[in-house]
Amino acid sequence: MSSAMPRHTKIISTLGPASNNRDTIAALIEAGTDVVRLNFSHGEHDGHRKVVALVRQEAERQGKQVAILQDLQGPRIRVGAVQEGAVTLPEGAEVTLSAFRSPEDISSEKHIYISYDALAYDLAVGGQILIDDGRLVLAVTSIAGEDVQARVEVGGLLKSRKGVNLPRVRTSGPALTEKDLADLEVGIDLNVDWIALSFVRNETDVVHLRKHLKAAGHRAGIIAKIEKPEAFESIDDILAVSNGIMVARGDLGIEMPMSSIPHAQKTIIHKCLLAGKPVITATQMLESMIENHAPTRAEASDVANAVLDGTDAVMLSGETAVGAHPAHVVKAMARIIRSAEEHWYALPQRSRGLPEGLSSIEDFQDVTDAVSLTACELAAHVGARALVCLTASGTTARALARHRPQMPVYAFTDSPHVIGQVGVLWGTKAFQIPFQSDTDAGVRLVQQTLVSKGYIRSGDTIVICAGMPLPRKGRTNLVHVSYVD
Ligand code: PGA
Ligand code: MN
Repeated sequence: MSSAMPRHTKIISTLGPASNNRDTIAALIEAGTDVVRLNFSHGEHDGHRKVVALVRQEAERQGKQVAILQDLQGPRIRVGAVQEGAVTLPEGAEVTLSAFRSPEDISSEKHIYISYDALAYDLAVGGQILIDDGRLVLAVTSIAGEDVQARVEVGGLLKSRKGVNLPRVRTSGPALTEKDLADLEVGIDLNVDWIALSFVRNETDVVHLRKHLKAAGHRAGIIAKIEKPEAFESIDDILAVSNGIMVARGDLGIEMPMSSIPHAQKTIIHKCLLAGKPVITATQMLESMIENHAPTRAEASDVANAVLDGTDAVMLSGETAVGAHPAHVVKAMARIIRSAEEHWYALPQRSRGLPEGLSSIEDFQDVTDAVSLTACELAAHVGARALVCLTASGTTARALARHRPQMPVYAFTDSPHVIGQVGVLWGTKAFQIPFQSDTDAGVRLVQQTLVSKGYIRSGDTIVICAGMPLPRKGRTNLVHVSYVD
């Protein structure tokens, strides 16, 4: 097995108690973490600030680019505090549920308080209330005023602050809670590269976040987390206003029948490829490695299949946040990815399952898109070592990456913003260079940089896309086959 081919699919590691320290962060980066996710459903602001500083220091020390993704909790519903931390709900028991209104609302085995004001209005008799990743299942039997009566269908331990899912309920309320707004302020202050929004319901939720970012003058990309059936139904509209998508299989698998998750994943990835926007496949990818040293066969296949579906990035959650050996999991994931990619590139192009509608120049109206396809074809034809773009916005990098070229994509940009954006983008590395007003000088700088980093060497051919004249932003209209001397 050759290790010469670089890994294309990106790895996102969620930080948490098991990895919030310098040594583990260093090891996670060393092992191949491309992006760290800060889960703002947990942790304090000070902790997140400290971690961001550590990630940046360690990335710099190792000469790597590691993007930072802030994950906002969004309108996630939770159980409030529970008596003594936990009570048992026996199967068949009758319980009352109502909206959590004050700190005195402590849940017991008879009365459960839930952080959703419209609980009694939005639920219907026969509806389900799922608690703690669906471990507890309650069925609504009647509703009177502010109180909901329910029967415990699947019992167990009810613990404080566990998540609640109300499948098939179109939840009301704002996309960004007060907590999210406060968290967002911290994210902006920390200059995070990406902001993921949980429990997106429709495009309006994303537009709402975009307004806040714009008002703050911040350019972080927005990842819409698809974890509600209604979001999956509105995927086209949500994708149109987002910079990327997360297939959030954890909550999606609770709110939709589990059997539809594989299909939802494939559909979403397919649409993102067509749109040329990055997509992350998330949750339980190597779940058993939270404890174990090796993944199950099913998990190894799951990671490989996400790669074969065409995902840009795969994400680790509990595996790196609370697991026994975070960096070891990243290494295992990287190995599975490499193997899957190697197999994929051994297939004839037409058997790789890329969407129809991306393969012919006639598919593209836009000049940048058409030039990017041509560059990919040319690079394969001349056996180029690398595909390069000079890009001000990152658009050309995305236009190249969506064709899943076998050679790495190197994006050269004068915008630090683009460096963070390519963090989640398949097969792409970015370099910040001063603005180039002269094509020849730009090509020389590209060559020098890549040679000095050991990515290319004398005798190689590389294919470079750029805009001519260069100061023109947003127009890539030049493909240059460049020989490295
Ligand atoms: P979470 O989102 O880990 O923030 O819940 C991902 C998912 O639900 O899959
Ligand atoms: Mn989720």
